[in-house]
Amino acid sequence: MVYADNAATTKLDIEAFEAMKPYLLEQYSNASQPYSFARSAKKALKQARETIAACINADPEEIFFTSGGTESDNWAVKGVMDAWDGNSTFLTSQIEHHAILHTASAVERMGFTVGLMPVSEKGVVSPETIEEYITENTKLVSVMFANNEIGTIQPIKELVKIAHDKGAIFHTDAVQAVGHVPIDVKELGIDMLSASAHKFNGPKGVGFLWVKKGTPLKSYMDGGAQERGARAGTENIAGIVGMAISLKNNCNIMESTIAHLRRLEKILLEELRKKNIDFIRNGSDFRIPGNMSLSFKGFEGEVLLHRLDLKGICVSTGSACDSQNTQISHVLKAINLSEGYALGTIRISLGKDNSEHDIYQIVDAIESIVSRRA
Ligand code: PLP
Repeated sequence: MVYADNAATTKLDIEAFEAMKPYLLEQYSNASQPYSFARSAKKALKQARETIAACINADPEEIFFTSGGTESDNWAVKGVMDAWDGNSTFLTSQIEHHAILHTASAVERMGFTVGLMPVSEKGVVSPETIEEYITENTKLVSVMFANNEIGTIQPIKELVKIAHDKGAIFHTDAVQAVGHVPIDVKELGIDMLSASAHKFNGPKGVGFLWVKKGTPLKSYMDGGAQERGARAGTENIAGIVGMAISLKNNCNIMESTIAHLRRLEKILLEELRKKNIDFIRNGSDFRIPGNMSLSFKGFEGEVLLHRLDLKGICVSTGSACDSQNTQISHVLKAINLSEGYALGTIRISLGKDNSEHDIYQIVDAIESIVSRRA
């Protein structure tokens, strides 16, 4: 099998797995208990918080563990908007993940106004766009660091400055970026950031929300006093430990992973071009390494996905299919991709374990499918 769907999820780092095991089998205490058996769980939480904070240049007390990217996004948006009245606006972009877009619909149902900023054909939210959409009533702006379908990285630093000038809080969904590109929360100037472990070779069902000290965020999960009273629920110690180790390991080899993925991308594009295949690559030049959204004119993404699957290759589509119609995703619609190409879009997302050999297998499979040999 060639796994080329790393933007959907990644393989668990073996060192992270080994580090998790004792917290499931031997050191299984509840970290909130006062007896000495709970000490190692408490210590593990502290260490994990420090490790994660160091990877994004944050302070450990600003890291709040969650169940993943979806929860972090829900908490950031609902937890800020909850402090305001119905005249307030939440501003976000048209190409966000559904964890943000559906949360935007939820805050709209609560009576708030939602602004959805359009993007350029490369999928970029420009500073001019945010200037146009932001008002005195905008309390929160959320723009994703990198898009999950097309990989485009946003000019976050510039967008933050405009949001702050209007007094709005800035959140970024960095689920596709953390552990893949360097992130320094202080340098970016943001107020909140969402991340998810399973996107950076950590376990599924665990993530974190980074919240800059002093940001007015209400608690989202009510219950016990965990996470300094901000996020109730017994901590997933093993998951949190695995998340910290996998993030540290990915950050340690980030530079070489980026070079490896850029090289594989280049080979894939060159080989497809050599074979005279009619395709375009979506997104801006400033993209998440390994994320390749490719559109093949006159094909259906869903068909390409299933034919590749028959050849043992895992990719995703940029268009979601129901039994009657193939629908073009909200991201491909937002970048105004013509229907002929948009319908034939697949996302190949390469990871650190992919090899040059995988790339040749993918190219050969695509060639045989689009030349209708298989
Ligand atoms: N945000 C983005 C950009 C994502 O790509 C994803 C997952 O695909 C999520 C949020 C949701 O993260 P999780 O799967 O951890 O809930």
